Amino acid sequence: MSILVVGSVAFDSVETPFGKADNVLGGSATYFSAAASYFSEVKLVAVVGEDFPDEHIDFLKDKGVDVTGLQRMQGKTFHWEGRYDYDLNEAHTLATHLNVFEKFQPDIPAAYRKSSYVFLANIDPDIQWNVLEQVERPKFIACDTMNFWIEGKPDALKRLLSKVDLFVLNEGEAREFAKEPNLVKAAKKIISYGPKTIIIKRGEYGALMFNGGSIFSAPAYPLESIFDPTGAGDSFAGGLMGYLANTDDASEANIRQAIIFGSVMASFNVEDFSLNRMRTLTLKEIRERYRQFKQLTHFEDI
Ligand code: AMP
Repeated sequence: MSILVVGSVAFDSVETPFGKADNVLGGSATYFSAAASYFSEVKLVAVVGEDFPDEHIDFLKDKGVDVTGLQRMQGKTFHWEGRYDYDLNEAHTLATHLNVFEKFQPDIPAAYRKSSYVFLANIDPDIQWNVLEQVERPKFIACDTMNFWIEGKPDALKRLLSKVDLFVLNEGEAREFAKEPNLVKAAKKIISYGPKTIIIKRGEYGALMFNGGSIFSAPAYPLESIFDPTGAGDSFAGGLMGYLANTDDASEANIRQAIIFGSVMASFNVEDFSLNRMRTLTLKEIRERYRQFKQLTHFEDI
C-alpha cells in the first residue's frame, strides 16, 4: 500500500551543542518520506520556492519517493531556524519563515487520491484539512503537529482530529494542547477530540501509545553519539507509517511493531545533521537495530 504525505519541505538552519548546519535540507514531509521509503511507496505533496535546488528533489527521487505532487511556486522555500541546548529533547524555534507555504493550496494529483494511508505531517492544520477533503476514503489517517500550530490554530487542529485515526505529538505539545500536566490525563483528553490512538513522543525517553484502554511503552535506542535531533519525530512517523502501509494491518499488535520501526528510524536519523544518515542507511542496518530493540526490552515472565 502506498502512503500520501503532506507537510513541509524546507531549508533548516540548526545549531546543536555539537555543531551547526545552515540552510540544509529539512522539513517534516522530507524526513517522513525518506524514512517511510524504506518500507513502502510514498507520494509527496508539498511546495518549494524557486531557490530549492534540484539535487534535493533528486535525493527524494533516488529514495523512490513520487514527487509529482511537489509544486514549485514563485518565492522562497519554507525556512526553519532552531537551536538545541544540552537537553536535546527540546527544540527552541528561533524563526519560522513560512514563505511559499503562506499561499499554498494543495492540489492532489488524481493518482494520489485513492491512497489508503495518509500522513498529515507537521504543517498548517488548514492545509492538512484541505488535503483530506481531496482524498477518497482512506483506510488509515495519521497526523502530526507542533506547538506553533497548537498555539496559533487550536480550533483548526481540533476539527482535523475528528477525522484522524492516529495522532502523534511530543510530550510538551500533549501537555500544552490538553492544558494538563499529567500525560495519561492529557492523552485521554486528546483522544476525546477524535483519534482512536495517540502516540506521545518523549525524545530520548521513547514513546507512549494510548489505544482505547491499553498503553504501550517503547524505549528510545540508547545512542552514544547524537548530533542533531531535528527530524527525529518525522522519521519516527515515517518508519511507523511505512511499516503499517507495508503490512496493511492497523491492529494494535502491528502498531506496536510499527512503533519500534519508527524508533529505529529516529535513532538513525539523529546520528547526523539534516537527512545525511539516510543517505547511506540500509535495510539490513534497520533490521539489525530492530532486533537490538527487542533485546533491549526483553525480560522473562514471573
Ligand atoms: P521534528 O521531526 O519534530 O524534529 O521536525 C523537524 C522539521 O520540522 C524541520 O526539518 C523543520 O523544517 C520542520 N518544521 C519546523 N517548524 C515547522 C512548522 N511550523 N510547520 C511545518 N514544519 C515545520
